[in-house]
Amino acid sequence: MIIHLKKEVGRENAEQIAKENNAFIFEEKEQFVLISSSSQKEVNPKFNDSILETFVFDNDIQLASRKYKNTTREVKIGNVTIGGETGNTLMIAGPCSVESEEQIQSSSELLKKLNLTTLRGGCYKPRTSPYSFQGLGLEGLKLLNKMKEEHGLNIITEVRDATHVQEVIEYSDVIQIGAKAMYDQGILRACAKIDKPVLIKRGFGTTLQEFVQCAEFVLSGGNPNVILCERGLRTFETKTRFTLDLCGVAFLKEHTNCPIVLDPSHAMGHAYGVPDLTRACVAMGIDGLLIEVHPDPNVAKSDASQQLNHSEFEELLQTLHPVAAAVNHQII
Ligand code: PEP
Ligand code: MN
Repeated sequence: MIIHLKKEVGRENAEQIAKENNAFIFEEKEQFVLISSSSQKEVNPKFNDSILETFVFDNDIQLASRKYKNTTREVKIGNVTIGGETGNTLMIAGPCSVESEEQIQSSSELLKKLNLTTLRGGCYKPRTSPYSFQGLGLEGLKLLNKMKEEHGLNIITEVRDATHVQEVIEYSDVIQIGAKAMYDQGILRACAKIDKPVLIKRGFGTTLQEFVQCAEFVLSGGNPNVILCERGLRTFETKTRFTLDLCGVAFLKEHTNCPIVLDPSHAMGHAYGVPDLTRACVAMGIDGLLIEVHPDPNVAKSDASQQLNHSEFEELLQTLHPVAAAVNHQII
């Protein structure tokens, strides 16, 4: 249950009401808001004088629910905004991993040439094998920062575990919580304490309920800037890397208020399928895309098979504009 207290209710009184309702306090626009489990359906009438409004839910999707806030949250990423009434579909592009200065410089120049604003690149990679390239770590973050300074790009990079969460928070404009890291409550709680946007990727075996509840950890901790990212589920199918859950996206659009980003690169796992899948994603009227692009995918140190080369990416981008326009969106 979400309980909005009247503006004149002071902290001491709010704390008392919270205690008696097993709720915790969350401050929104200088107003005390209490949140308790969704199993609570009513409040003792003795508190009526302090209460402005209450919201009751069927399950613990509460702050992220459209029943609470029935438009998509606006999230600002550097100088661009997604969600709200913007109709923006933000193209986030770049390599899977930051590998060298030359490589990330080349990716940054491509983005600038195409008037794109937001560069991705992993520095702490959650690899399936300990013997594969694990990412450049802090050195990679510094290279991303150099690209931000030289080209004015917004940076999104992933946090793999809680040991380097503060480092990633410091160096990025959007913190990406990967599909394997999304259950890490140390990461979620650290991201709840900041106000930078957080992009949470859905685990490949995660239900929509569990996924959105991860967002609730960040939202209820005080950070309203949460973006949800669908990147494919593990199914019986092995010909493609994962199965992009577009039905799940329809659910998220209908029932939740966080901007939605789709990642067709990781879902498909093969570059040949990424353009068609990307157009299908754009047709759903989403808030952003995450596309892996590499100056020379053949030598990429991670996810080589799914990354587009620069000309493939450029060609894809051109084809997205009419698809976006058909659903009243624009690619930015
Ligand atoms: C990535 O974005 O490069 C990545 C590792 O993604 P995921 O967490 O979805 O596997
Ligand atoms: Mn990748």
